[in-house]
Amino acid sequence: MRFLFITPGAEPKTFMGPHWLPLGFASIGALLKQHGHAVHVFDRYASMARFGLDTAKVDEAMLKEAKTFEPDVVGLATVSPMIYDTVYCAKILRGVFSGLMLAGGHHATALPRITLEKIPELDGVGLGESEESLLALAEGTKPVDISGFLWRQGTENGADKENRRTDQPSLGRLDDLDSLPFPDYSLFDTSFYTRRTSHVIRGFHISTLSMLGSRGCKYRCSFCTESMIYGSGVRFHSAEYITQMLARTLGQYPRVEGIYFHDNDFLIEPARVEQLCRRLIETGLHRRFLWAVQARSDRMDAALLRLMRRAGCIQIEIGVEAARQDDLDTLRKGTKATINESAIRLCHDAGITVHANFLTQTKGESLTDLEEKLDWLKRNRPDAFSLHPLSRYPGSALYHETGERFFERSDWTRANVLGFYAADIFSKITPGDRQRWQQTRLRPFSRKLHWLARFRLNPARRWPQIVWKAISLRMKRRIAQLKR
Ligand code: SF4
Repeated sequence: MRFLFITPGAEPKTFMGPHWLPLGFASIGALLKQHGHAVHVFDRYASMARFGLDTAKVDEAMLKEAKTFEPDVVGLATVSPMIYDTVYCAKILRGVFSGLMLAGGHHATALPRITLEKIPELDGVGLGESEESLLALAEGTKPVDISGFLWRQGTENGADKENRRTDQPSLGRLDDLDSLPFPDYSLFDTSFYTRRTSHVIRGFHISTLSMLGSRGCKYRCSFCTESMIYGSGVRFHSAEYITQMLARTLGQYPRVEGIYFHDNDFLIEPARVEQLCRRLIETGLHRRFLWAVQARSDRMDAALLRLMRRAGCIQIEIGVEAARQDDLDTLRKGTKATINESAIRLCHDAGITVHANFLTQTKGESLTDLEEKLDWLKRNRPDAFSLHPLSRYPGSALYHETGERFFERSDWTRANVLGFYAADIFSKITPGDRQRWQQTRLRPFSRKLHWLARFRLNPARRWPQIVWKAISLRMKRRIAQLKR
């Protein structure tokens, strides 16, 4: 069978340049190819770079790919803030493609029936992890017998009916992760993804690729959807599998200097991390590349962090989320504010830098709370930080609790979806006051911290490239905005 997978693009003004490679399709594609099926990925995000952020040219190239590759199945990835892009792609692709069209990913998993309803071009929706279900489809299993899909019934009497299965569709889930082939990065434009950037391992201007050593998270933070897509519990690749995957990837892509592990909580099994670090040191791979992980603050152990540093770890990304304990409790983070602070000290003592993720626009947030977050950052000095608005993603407890049912009730147009995600419904701060605070208080601090980090974390010979890349990205975004 022939599969064409499509990733969503981005708004030109939020385009960041090389970022994290979409690992889901790298894994699914590798498995399908291993079984003799043909796979192409049309990556709308990477194509934006290729076509100077000109989205009309990206669409044209995508349609050309759909015509020339002649797929049997088109699979569209869905993410809630860009769902209008998927709606649009499904619509224009139907003009040139009459085969099976599916959607998968976080948004489709959270709202499978609504996704079929809102995107009439789709024949079905994949839920959870799609490796096994897509392989079963490719190998000729009757669609209705494959778990992990929700299908639209045939168009009897000219009208689409509800799905063939009336029960709740089950989540696709792979238990033995080591049974998978290594991700196939060649499905993507690796000349784009491996360009040096400071946005992947934050502050380090290096060439990177992404990897996954485990799937799932055992926590249930109110804003998060990871447990919804991966189900309960955590599954792991063995340390040996990861070592071999690293050796092969770094051999194939010699310019890659860093690996970013996307595991939700890399340190959840400390013994496994210790084993991996020891394998990296034994094999000498630790001298070949630098790496970064995401981990919860309550997992930091001084001895393990020192070992990780010896094995090449240079950054840990921590979901600090809030400065105050009551806010952490409201978010159901399950950590302590004091532990967040000590985690940064422990990482720094081990020589590992920290990227701290904070949430803003949280329930009842005031200007005083914003100042408190800024004080926290000044006091604890993470090497980099991000401030993300608290967003309601379908599949999260937060989305459910607000009772808005936005995606169930509204059309998935660009204006509606952008408006939904731009609305600050929780905080007490007016948009004008927030903008003023950002311009006068946050931005001067943030700019200084991030630029100093780039100069501190990179050799002087890379500084001109760092500055030039920042300027050229800003120029490209500006030109794209003017063209729209
Ligand atoms: S935010 Fe992190 S710790 Fe919380 S549920 Fe999501 S992945 Fe797990």
